[in-house]
Amino acid sequence: MSLSPEEALKVMEGAQSIAIAGHVNPDGDAIGSALALRSLLRALGKDAVVLLGQDSAAPELYRFLPEYEFVRASEYSGVPDLFIVVDASTAKRLGTSERILGVARDTLVIDHHSNYEGFANHYIGDATAPAAATVIWRIIKASGIKPTLAMATYCYVGIMTDTGRFAFRNTNASAFADATEMIGIGVDPARMSELVYENRTLSALRLEALMIDRIQFSGGGSVAYSFILEDDLRALGLERDATEQLPATLRAIKGVEVAALFRDEGTKGIHASLRSRNTFNVGAFASRFGGGGHAGAAGLTLKQPLDEVISLVVSGLASELSARLSAGT
Ligand code: 5GP
Ligand code: MN
Repeated sequence: MSLSPEEALKVMEGAQSIAIAGHVNPDGDAIGSALALRSLLRALGKDAVVLLGQDSAAPELYRFLPEYEFVRASEYSGVPDLFIVVDASTAKRLGTSERILGVARDTLVIDHHSNYEGFANHYIGDATAPAAATVIWRIIKASGIKPTLAMATYCYVGIMTDTGRFAFRNTNASAFADATEMIGIGVDPARMSELVYENRTLSALRLEALMIDRIQFSGGGSVAYSFILEDDLRALGLERDATEQLPATLRAIKGVEVAALFRDEGTKGIHASLRSRNTFNVGAFASRFGGGGHAGAAGLTLKQPLDEVISLVVSGLASELSARLSAGT
């Protein structure tokens, strides 16, 4: 059962020191949600920090955001009154921040995934919300604090990136209504889009070219897939976040229902980023392999050789898609 924004604020009011964490390899929503919540909590007089569940740096892509500062969870020795998890429905997505669940005096999850695994004391979530930042925005508005330009910018970036610039199937009226409010506060939508999507290095484009060169199809063209190796990133001097927008390129191919980008993450295994176009639920598919996510965007990680993971996932996708086609659903 989800708390209301007012009830979530009550939980926060009872705490003074608060640590916030999003999922590992944070995207625009995890980062935007966490930083927006930190702004709100500081405005409410709390001591709030945002933890990074990994020892690699936060993505450069979002460095334009105000006060882009994080504390590595592995170096955080505090015992917060409250630990707030944003944009994650399972504890294992927290990386090195997961440890804080065991030391914090109280815990709260703020999320928009559909499969919350009940790992905290309190929960506020909405699976129909396009982004976790949507839920954060509701909490900000319920707080009585006047939203600042920084808060609006953080939440705008969360919604813009999780909806793929207001285009993916999770885009709904609330995304536009919230964006309208944020623009009213001073967010410049063209600038935000430019900073995130039109700020690519030649190396990032070369990585995309490499991925495009390796595209293969299955299921009569309904599944498109490709892969990126650790060495590709190393050779081009790129970090993992350079791959964040690549699965959307695969899904944009005519006739493709589901796209899969496999990324070799060395000792962590092979991560598959899955994206679907219409009705196929990649979140449900990924959860059968220990992963998860949303209907239109999900991921999974398997510790098997790349070719085995590709054949397992691609054959699974192709057979489920063809079973659905023959069943007429
Ligand atoms: P990506 O494929 O870009 O890493 O993630 C796409 C979506 O799936 C995001 O919402 C992300 O949180 C979710 N996701 C990715 N990998 C996993 C995973 O291993 N477990 C779960 N539960 N969700 C994941
Ligand atoms: Mn999200």
